[in-house]
Amino acid sequence: MRIVLLGAPGSGKGTQAQRLVERARIPQISTGDLLRAAVARGSELGRQAREAMDSGRLVDDSLVLGMIRERLGEADARKGFILDGFPRNLAQAHALERLLASLGKPLDAVVQLEVDYGELVRRIAGRRTCADCGRVFNVLTSPSPPRELCPKTGAPHRLIQRPDDNEATVAERLRVYDEKTRPLIDFYRARGLLRVINAEGDVDEVTRRLTQALGARSGRAAPATRATARRRARSSSARRKPTRPKPARARTKPAASASSRSRASAPRRGAHKTLRLAGATRRRRARSSKRR
Ligand code: ADP
Repeated sequence: MRIVLLGAPGSGKGTQAQRLVERARIPQISTGDLLRAAVARGSELGRQAREAMDSGRLVDDSLVLGMIRERLGEADARKGFILDGFPRNLAQAHALERLLASLGKPLDAVVQLEVDYGELVRRIAGRRTCADCGRVFNVLTSPSPPRELCPKTGAPHRLIQRPDDNEATVAERLRVYDEKTRPLIDFYRARGLLRVINAEGDVDEVTRRLTQALGARSGRAAPATRATARRRARSSSARRKPTRPKPARARTKPAASASSRSRASAPRRGAHKTLRLAGATRRRRARSSKRR
């Protein structure tokens, strides 16, 4: 399975990718993690990426693409992968498409994780990562279980806050997401690869929606939040071309189908008659048995 998780910072791509790794036994490839590792190593790539990361901008495409090309060439990515945080703009999406086409391994699905803006900010504020194993927790919504030990060190998780999870950088990252990454939704929808899930609520429930979306043959979306539905309705009505008013016949159609729906759920007319007849028969029988 070759998939892309698409979503704003804080939408839970990393958390859900980690859960999919356990289920699907394919690696999570997070460009954010790869870049942070390069920064921590103090490599040339890390040095070049650091400034953009600290200010919430995107790292240069050529650096990220080089890194992805190398990572996808590794043995564990042969049977599939979960891309998390990549692609992040149209140029990266086109480059990925070309790269996978040249390998004869196109994407199977792109899942967009939808979360409201306010919730994204709240999640990022509480986000903490284990400095040793990289697992993501949230002190507000999903803290690390008290007795859980880090699989890397055998000691309790060492939780740190990412340097770019501060208020100013988060606002810029969300702005960059809207400007550069959001257009990928239409890009993948046009290719028939997009599946949209509501990524708010319980983490296990989101995992269930995600696996369901991946298992589903069609690209139909899971139920959205009310806010999401409002947003979608707004954007689709904005996209809709102005149309002339529908002829009267067409306008009466929904009403007719609504009444036929209510007819379908009401008892049959014949059924009332049968009940009345049965009551009359019972009364007649009672009268004649009294006479006897
Ligand atoms: P989040 O999705 O929460 O913003 P990531 O860990 O995916 O966090 O990314 C952190 C930072 O790393 C981004 O703000 C950006 O500077 C850089 N980065 C990650 N992936 C990419 C990418 N595909 N292209 C360019 N920059 C990236």
